[in-house]
Amino acid sequence: MTRYREFHRRSIEAPEDFWRDEARRIHWETPFETVLDRSNPPFARWFVGGRTNLCHNAVDRHLAERAQQNALVYVSTETGIERRYTYAELYAEINRMAAVMRSLGVKRGDRVLIYLPMIPEAVFAMLACARLGAIHSVVFGGFAAPSLAARIDDATPALIVTADAGARGGKVIDYTPLVDEALARAKHKPPHVLRIDRQLAPERLNASYLVDYEPLREQFFDAHVPCEWLESNEPSYVLYTSGTTGRPKGVVRDVGGYAVALAASMEYIYEGRAGDTMFTASDIGWVVGHSYIIYAPLIAGLTTVMYEGTPIRPDGGIWWRLVEQHRINLMFTAPTGLRVLKKQDPALLKKYNLSSLRTLFLAGEPLDEPTASWISDALGKPIVDNYWQTETGWPMLAIQRGVEALPAKLGSPGVPVYGYDLTLRNEQTGEVCAAGEKGVITLGYPLPPGCMSTVWGDDRRFVSTYWSSVPDQQLYSTFDWGIQDDDGYVTILGRTDDVINVAGHRLGTREIEEAISSHKAVAEVAVVGVADPLKGQVALAFVVLRDADRYAADKARLKLEAELVSTVDRQLGAIARPARVHFVAMLPKTRSGKLLRRAIAALAEGRDPGDLPTIEDASALQQVRDALAAAAGGKT
Ligand code: ATP
Ligand code: MG
Repeated sequence: MTRYREFHRRSIEAPEDFWRDEARRIHWETPFETVLDRSNPPFARWFVGGRTNLCHNAVDRHLAERAQQNALVYVSTETGIERRYTYAELYAEINRMAAVMRSLGVKRGDRVLIYLPMIPEAVFAMLACARLGAIHSVVFGGFAAPSLAARIDDATPALIVTADAGARGGKVIDYTPLVDEALARAKHKPPHVLRIDRQLAPERLNASYLVDYEPLREQFFDAHVPCEWLESNEPSYVLYTSGTTGRPKGVVRDVGGYAVALAASMEYIYEGRAGDTMFTASDIGWVVGHSYIIYAPLIAGLTTVMYEGTPIRPDGGIWWRLVEQHRINLMFTAPTGLRVLKKQDPALLKKYNLSSLRTLFLAGEPLDEPTASWISDALGKPIVDNYWQTETGWPMLAIQRGVEALPAKLGSPGVPVYGYDLTLRNEQTGEVCAAGEKGVITLGYPLPPGCMSTVWGDDRRFVSTYWSSVPDQQLYSTFDWGIQDDDGYVTILGRTDDVINVAGHRLGTREIEEAISSHKAVAEVAVVGVADPLKGQVALAFVVLRDADRYAADKARLKLEAELVSTVDRQLGAIARPARVHFVAMLPKTRSGKLLRRAIAALAEGRDPGDLPTIEDASALQQVRDALAAAAGGKT
């Protein structure tokens, strides 16, 4: 562990020296004067006075050496379209898009709201914004009109870029009516709406405000738009958090710090080298998409694979087919995707030649042990769980194989990443927890480069939300709860508001979920705490079975419930025992695949779960309601 320990220590004890060295990875049009400005904590400014541009670093800079290398490989199993763009072609497309945006009045500092499905034009639009110094605000294409309207009003864009339609699982989703409704709801009226016409929408809706991209692209086909050289701390984008626990926060990212942090992470965490191919199965609407579909792989000179489609269409082998076809070296996804694949025919994994693949990265939610062991055995490659947030932009916890290939420990995303002064703290006293003691995961000041610089338009909210929960200390709270072992490995126990208190014992819902999911009948589980007059709170479990038919009979379910309860007893003790286990076909999740435990708890306590604009499938709530009603009626 010495190499990792030394590396991490240096990054914390001498951050200026550490990050000055890392800053050499990117192009600075004007060198920075100061590595770190700490004059106004908790705000931190990195590489002050330096001028650079994200688009230049992601694209222009590579033209000398890799103009003919693929920069972007696009595959859609929804439309059957596959396209490849070399760095030279990507450069040309971005310039066309930038010229079109400029012709519509977009200039440095303006916001551009990007509401697009997974199409190459989304990449062009984001990088065109970067080129112009405009601030992109990408809104996940699956969001409905009210979520879109809220983001329009928060970011007040000068332009919206959208498409006629998206597609998911073979279903076409018309975007124009959604944009129409959002614009009607929003107070802010953007002067222009640019539409990428995929010719997918069944009806050709033609709202008067829509400007079609294609004719403008033709008009600016040979355009060259110079990069705006931005001061390192100017904003590059606004991105809203997933909204799992409340009103989404508009996370603001800088330019220089983000570029440096991503470039360094490609070596130390992802071990991606120029010329490699990376496939990040996420969406451009999430932070993983921003950082590891677009910016990081391109900044480091890789080929990035962008995929529109689900992991199970045309069949559960599609991701592995992509690996074989495109000789993918690095793959990155969320555990939720793997849990979907785990229910598929295991032969699909063996059907393809996966020899190009070096490592599989996972982030976004806890990686449960059964899923981790399954994929690790099936692939025979290192699986690297990494823990981070929209706010940080890149991992806080990971095995940093490019620094030292420490062994993985099942259930833990690893050790603190360089640059992060990460400690676990007692929630009440703010004291550092001893090894094995549960606490809130916090970060010391300053946050490393690439992390959020503030909440969009609301510096006070940045301070009051993130920096005020530990009394008398300058600490950033992740609002996640964890436990650290003697070797420094952290296990995430859940979000601080998912902690339940049973007869005075504080338990992370994650601990109970882990125990239950170790039973082979269980595909997925959510545990929530509900009020109990006797014990304060009790745990309720909601379980999705791998093979529900096997447990169709009431008797079989009762027997399984007893088995699951005794599994928890054995692993955690009777105190953690769920009061009931309910069986459902589906759990309520956000569009980004995270469990909405609060909504489940509200239903279980007979409360209204409130507005859930980020929910993936609202019928999952009905399932929970039905299960609760059936149990109240004496059935399981
Ligand atoms: P909101 O903050 O609006 O409630 P959110 O927290 O779901 O939404 P994200 O920033 O997308 O929005 O998610 C970050 C959170 O996801 C982390 O704080 C953590 O709870 C969880 N998470 C991410 N990666 C991991 C991981 N590897 N293991 C466990 N949990 C993870
Ligand atoms: Mg969060």
